[in-house]
Amino acid sequence: MGTSPSLVSHVRAAHGPALPAALERLVAPFDGWGALVGPGDRVAVKVNLLRGAPPDRAVSTHPETLRHVLRALRKVGASPFVADSPGGLNGPAKVARAYNISGIASMCGEEDVPIVDIEDAKVTVEAPHGRLYRAFTVGEAFVHADAIVQVGVLKTHQLMRLTGGVKLTYGCIPGLAKAQLHVRAPRREDFADMLLDLHLAMAPGFTIIDGIIAMEGQGPGSGQPRELGSLFAARDCVALDAALADRTGHGRRDVYVLAAAERRGLVDLDDPYTLEGDPVEPAHDFVPAGKDFQSNLPESLQRLGRRLVTARPRLVDAHACITCGECAAICGAEAVALAPLPVFDDRRCVRCFACTEVCPTRAIDSVTPPLARFMARH
Ligand code: SF4
Ligand code: SF4
Repeated sequence: MGTSPSLVSHVRAAHGPALPAALERLVAPFDGWGALVGPGDRVAVKVNLLRGAPPDRAVSTHPETLRHVLRALRKVGASPFVADSPGGLNGPAKVARAYNISGIASMCGEEDVPIVDIEDAKVTVEAPHGRLYRAFTVGEAFVHADAIVQVGVLKTHQLMRLTGGVKLTYGCIPGLAKAQLHVRAPRREDFADMLLDLHLAMAPGFTIIDGIIAMEGQGPGSGQPRELGSLFAARDCVALDAALADRTGHGRRDVYVLAAAERRGLVDLDDPYTLEGDPVEPAHDFVPAGKDFQSNLPESLQRLGRRLVTARPRLVDAHACITCGECAAICGAEAVALAPLPVFDDRRCVRCFACTEVCPTRAIDSVTPPLARFMARH
C-alpha cells in the first residue's frame, strides 16, 4: 500500500466451466499462485460468511469460486483451510449451519479442505500503525497461518457503502467482539479507520473479490443479487476497493474506507491503481446502499440530524420475524428489545446496521425518515 498506484487485476467471468481459466487469467499478472504462496504453506482462506444464505443471494463467498481458488492453492503445494466469523453470537451449531446453507461446507467436503472455527481460540494482534486501535483480538488460526488469502463478495454496505477487500478482514474478529467495535466507533469515518487499522495489522497477502454475482441495494445482508460478471484481485486492498468503486459507479471518495486511506496518505484516489486484464466499466445502474445525510450536516446539527435524517433499523415485515433474537444478540449498544418482536431504542442505536445484516429473514431493514427522503428528491 502506498501512493504509487498498485496493481489490480480485473477479468470478466461467469460461473461454469470457464471459471478456472478466468481465475488463472486473474492471477497471471501477479506471476500466478506459485508467486503468492509457497509449497507447504498453511494458507488461511478468509471467506465472507456473514450468515447462512444460499449462494445465489450473494451474501457469502460463492462456493464455486472458492472451490477453484482452493484447487489452485493445492496445485502449487499449499495446504489451504477455510475460516471466517459470521456476524452475531456464534456457537458451533450456528457457524456450522451458516457454512452448510452457503454451500461452502459441502464443497469443502468434496475438496477435502478443512474449515476452521475461529470463535474460541483467540490471540491479540498488535496494530502498530493503527489510528484508533493499537491491538485487536482475532482468530488465532489467521495469525498462525503462513499466509492469508481473502476470497470475498462484492457487496454494497449500508454503513461503509461498499464491502471490498479492506472490510473483508473484519471477519477475523470472532463473534460479538465485532459488534462492540461498531459501538466504540459509531461515526462512519471512525469505523472506516478502525477497519483500516485491523486490515493493516492482519496484512492479508492476496485478495480476490467476486463480483460475478454481486449484491446491490441494502447490503451487505439485505440487498439484491446483481450479475456483474467481474472478478478482481490485488495484493493491495485499498487499490482493489478503488477498482470496485469504479465498477459499481461509486465516487471513490464516497466509499468511507477509501476516504480514510487517502487521509492517511495510503493512496492517491485520483490515480489509485494500475489495471491489468479487462477494462473496468462503471455499471451506472448499479443500485447503491441508502445515502447517509447526517454526515453532511455541520457538527452542531449532528444530534438533531441523527433523529431527523438518519436511517434507522425497523421491523419491516412482522410476519417474517421468527423471533430468533439474533438482532438483539448482536446489538452492542443494547438498543434492541424483543417484546416478542424487536423494538428499537433510537437514542441508544448507533446506526451500525449490524442487526439488519444478521437477520436471517430480512424482517428488519434500515428505514429512511420522511425528511431524508424529501432531501434525497431535492
Ligand atoms: S427481526 Fe430478524 S433477527 Fe430479529 S428476531 Fe426477528 S427474525 Fe430474528
Ligand atoms: S439497533 Fe441495530 S443498528 Fe442500532 S446499534 Fe443496535 S445493531 Fe446497530
